[in-house]
Amino acid sequence: MREHFHAIVVGAGPSGNAAAYTLAKAGLKVLQIERGEYPGSKNVQGAILYADALERIIPTFREDAPLERHVVEQRIWMMDQDGHAGAHYRSSSFNEEKPNRYTIIRAQFDKWFSRQVQAAGALVICETTVTALLRGENGRVEGVVTDRENGVVTADIVILAEGVNGLLGTRAGLRTRPKPEQVALAVKEMHFLPQETIEARFNLKEDEGVVIEATGTITEGMVGTAFIYTNKESLSVGIGCLVSDFGETKTKPYELLDRFKRHSSVHPLIEGAEVKEYAAHLIPEGGYKAIPQLYGDGWLIVGDAGSFVNAAHREGSNLAMTTGRLAAETVIYNRRMGLPNVAENLKRYKDELDKSFVMQDLKKYKHLPETLHTNKQFFTTYPHLISTAAQKLLRVDGESKWQKEKDITAAFLRTRRIGGLITDVFKMARAWR
Ligand code: FAD
Repeated sequence: MREHFHAIVVGAGPSGNAAAYTLAKAGLKVLQIERGEYPGSKNVQGAILYADALERIIPTFREDAPLERHVVEQRIWMMDQDGHAGAHYRSSSFNEEKPNRYTIIRAQFDKWFSRQVQAAGALVICETTVTALLRGENGRVEGVVTDRENGVVTADIVILAEGVNGLLGTRAGLRTRPKPEQVALAVKEMHFLPQETIEARFNLKEDEGVVIEATGTITEGMVGTAFIYTNKESLSVGIGCLVSDFGETKTKPYELLDRFKRHSSVHPLIEGAEVKEYAAHLIPEGGYKAIPQLYGDGWLIVGDAGSFVNAAHREGSNLAMTTGRLAAETVIYNRRMGLPNVAENLKRYKDELDKSFVMQDLKKYKHLPETLHTNKQFFTTYPHLISTAAQKLLRVDGESKWQKEKDITAAFLRTRRIGGLITDVFKMARAWR
């Protein structure tokens, strides 16, 4: 007889781990299946961990989770070819007892999270790919088919936490493949430097960390951002742009990353580092409008597979964990109430999501993806204008400040005209509402 579980979770990223942990902790019999050699082996992230989402699942995580640095400073750069204009925020209040944001290394973090899942009682099987969903006569999902011999397993519910590619859900007709303009391709490297070098270059002490998010002409007119995150003895350096833009411009992602690394604002920070890891991964950036149907008879979708990424704020893992937790809580509720896991009872998951920051934030930025996709001037013209204006204002050369301001205004009007400037302000305001 086939072994039957209360729940099967496909994938051991943050969303799958959050779901499996919550279910197992509540006493349900859980099977989690991961295709990677170990949890985290297939996963790529910057990575900033937002503590709040994890704290709601494992309040004591700070005691033994592999955390790199807590973030005390955020830098936002608008780059052009020669420099950058930036905004920084740094505060000693981020040196709090329970910091709010940490840098992490995903391979280590996912392994740690998986150990908690197993300690909570879930059975975790790696190096196993779920190849199909098992359907009952009425079409209800009743389990999964894996690539193992006799690898069919049944469950009351299957939670799809399979990440952005979501091949399983797509093949089963539960969701459609995201369009190229709804996904970014990010490439990332790990640059190893001695701890004291990192601390000197970034003005840090002990476990303090800095994150830099950069945009502008560095993405060569494509919609995207670059980043540098400080770990204890390494820097995560990466850049990502929409797949559709890479396709149109024929730009090679690793060449773009090389140009970012050679930039005069970046090179001094990474100079002399030993580059040890190179990874590429997709990020779902379609936002609210790209969210698929999230529940049905016998199934739920969580995390990147449901397009839960807030690209405006570079948040993904926290949305993944929150969706995983809320999905699990819905299953636990149904079990306690004796309700079958059919669509009408699983709708509770979507209702809880709608009430949470996850849907509220994604809804807030619902116009942002298409606004950026169709207005490339935000990645070309404006960074250049801002950089030229900053240079002009800062250069002390005998020209009056009146004249400088007049020239700067004229440059903006010449390039975008008054109508264009007003429309751009309106478009951005609408996208950020
Ligand atoms: P994933 O982490 O992708 O996990 C899915 C898992 O499912 C994988 O382990 C995969 O092997 C497994 N799987 C897939 N299919 C199958 C199958 N058929 N059978 C078995 N197993 C399967 N978010 C942040 O919060 N902060 C950041 O700083 C940040 N930076 C990022 C930087 C980069 C370069 C990238 C690419 C992403 C970043 N994100 C960041 C986003 C974040 O990584 C994701 O939102 C998050 O990992 C989503 O978690 P998930 O569990 O849904 O999916």
